[in-house]
Amino acid sequence: MAATNLPRRPVYLDYQATTPVDPRVLEAMLPYFGEAFGNPHSAAHALGREAAEAVEAARASVAAVIGAEPREIVFTSGATESNNIAIIGAARFRRNYRERRDHIVTVATEHKCVLESCAALEREGFRVTRLPVSRSGIVDLDRLREAVTAETALVSVMAVNNEIGVLQPLADIGAVCHEQGAWFHTDAAQAFGKIELDVESMRIDLLSISGHKAYGPKGIGALYVRRRPRVRLEPLFHGGGQERGLRSGTLPTPLCVGLGAAATIAREQGAEELRRLARLSRRFLEALREGVPDCIVNGDPDVRFPGNLNIALPGIPADKLIEGLPDVAVATGSACTSAAVEPSYVLRAIGLDDAMAAASIRIGFGRFTTEAEVDFAADSISRRVAEIRGQSRTAGKPAA
Ligand SMILES: *Cc1c(COP(=O)(O)O)cnc(C)c1O
Repeated sequence: MAATNLPRRPVYLDYQATTPVDPRVLEAMLPYFGEAFGNPHSAAHALGREAAEAVEAARASVAAVIGAEPREIVFTSGATESNNIAIIGAARFRRNYRERRDHIVTVATEHKCVLESCAALEREGFRVTRLPVSRSGIVDLDRLREAVTAETALVSVMAVNNEIGVLQPLADIGAVCHEQGAWFHTDAAQAFGKIELDVESMRIDLLSISGHKAYGPKGIGALYVRRRPRVRLEPLFHGGGQERGLRSGTLPTPLCVGLGAAATIAREQGAEELRRLARLSRRFLEALREGVPDCIVNGDPDVRFPGNLNIALPGIPADKLIEGLPDVAVATGSACTSAAVEPSYVLRAIGLDDAMAAASIRIGFGRFTTEAEVDFAADSISRRVAEIRGQSRTAGKPAA
């Protein structure tokens, strides 16, 4: 008879991989897939102007979330593209024009697209420093200060880690960069609309955004590019010169509108949502600790986005755990590297050995997560852990 309280299944707890599109976002987008189909770059007639106005309103909404001006926002296809344009574009510009800065600083736990953009620059002759992190997953400011010099073109440090959820001290990093005249880029794919971001007080020069991590559609993102003092990038694409020449090509009006709507909702509700996620996260962890007292939160336990918990369940291989949990959608390691069955490089970087990394799961809570779902997930995971431990105890008994 308890069935009425049971959540819809599978319970989705993988909000770091992607978020569902908010129904209000979908509603806002629909007209632009239909009758309002004009090319936003065709200013000669009303249909084009209607699309252009919608795109510009969306741009202003995105800018408002991070304390930027609308014209500092460049629409892209997502955070992968934003990170590439920012990192490669900034590095090439700064080396080629007068300054001869040819050094990049980043962190070992960045997203693959940041690390691979840096690796591509290394093949072009740039020097790249990849800072290690401690057990907390948080960058050491003294090491950062030592690494950043007058030859550093760019420092790229993410806002919220996509695997372990820890927050990097953006304002402190921004201050270090500023002292040396290095530009500061932050991959804010997991942070935009979720935690407070302010490009002025944090001295951020470039900031990457992804629509589908923030209840918007997939295939859209944005890059903030500071205008004062001016940050210049070498474009990666060449064409009609749209988006300040940084991102030639016709903008996808419905997707831009969707990102704008997602930004507006985040600005209105983000603070309250953060408090709700903190309550959900505490509730989940308390329940899980009752069932699995030896579970460990990976990364700093406090300096984190509460919608992300990365948890090691000692002795329980995550793939085996998940195999028996069809009603709970959680992640092992990072989705982006899941093609290879390697332990997560982020978990390795914070000092976990292969066995502990393989025994870790990522649990993501978000806007549509309910208390009933959280309770159901904690209970299901606890039961499954007990089941696996029971099996291995039996299997471990010496055959008499
Ligand atoms: C998801 C994610 C990306 C990639 O974003 P896309 O919009 O899917 O290209 C980059 N960085 C971080 C931290 C992410 O979580």
